[in-house]
Amino acid sequence: MRHILGRRGLRALHQLAGRDTLLAFDFDGTLAPIADDHSGAWMRPATRRLLARLARRYPCAVISGRALRDLRPRLQGVAVRGLVGNHGAEGNGAGRGAAGLRSTVRAWRRRLSGHRWMIGRQTIEDKGLSLTLHYRRAPDPDAAERLLRRAIRGLRGARVVPGKMGLNVIPAGAPDKGAAFVRLLRGAGCEAAVYVGDDTTDEDVFALTGMPHLLTIRVGRSRSSRAAYCLRSQDEIDDLLAALLSLRTL
Ligand SMILES: [Mg+2]
Repeated sequence: MRHILGRRGLRALHQLAGRDTLLAFDFDGTLAPIADDHSGAWMRPATRRLLARLARRYPCAVISGRALRDLRPRLQGVAVRGLVGNHGAEGNGAGRGAAGLRSTVRAWRRRLSGHRWMIGRQTIEDKGLSLTLHYRRAPDPDAAERLLRRAIRGLRGARVVPGKMGLNVIPAGAPDKGAAFVRLLRGAGCEAAVYVGDDTTDEDVFALTGMPHLLTIRVGRSRSSRAAYCLRSQDEIDDLLAALLSLRTL
């Protein structure tokens, strides 16, 4: 996994400069630093300014695990072309079958409420089309994760995707970030794309094949990731946005 801000990485970015390129980003841990309390994750002012300028020069999109109603205000007025929530299942035309997914998630939520005694300091984030069980603030996160895994074991049709100090519980077969990304790319009529993410559900984009002009970047180096490039840490996102901006003048 090469550093995207290294010589070879920058050369790869330059090769996209002359093409119609979609820029797509995850939100938490990518555009915004991970916050202790997940409701407190916001872009730094510098990131917001760079993204706003970038969105005037490229079609930009954000694909997040958050619900759209939660994600939208976090863009703080930056007008991106595409906004997708719930790990790919919400927004940008992903609506078909949503009613069925919602009733599945509602049933899971009801069932997990019966496990309140073991959920204690952890929280259930109900996003309508998926759940996230957070244990970042639990006194013993490892024990909390074990308890949560036990609680969700019996949920029928659930795809469990571990996140950063949280377990995402997603209906199996719901559109994932990879499907959302492909739909965005087609909708924007782009032949090339950059995708930046930091977490397990971003691997659904990193693993896409047959796309010669897709540049995948993971925030944080990882041996097991399918991404081709990395940023060393979240604060380097500003340098990446600035580099993309410098490739294209109005
Ligand atoms: Mg993330």
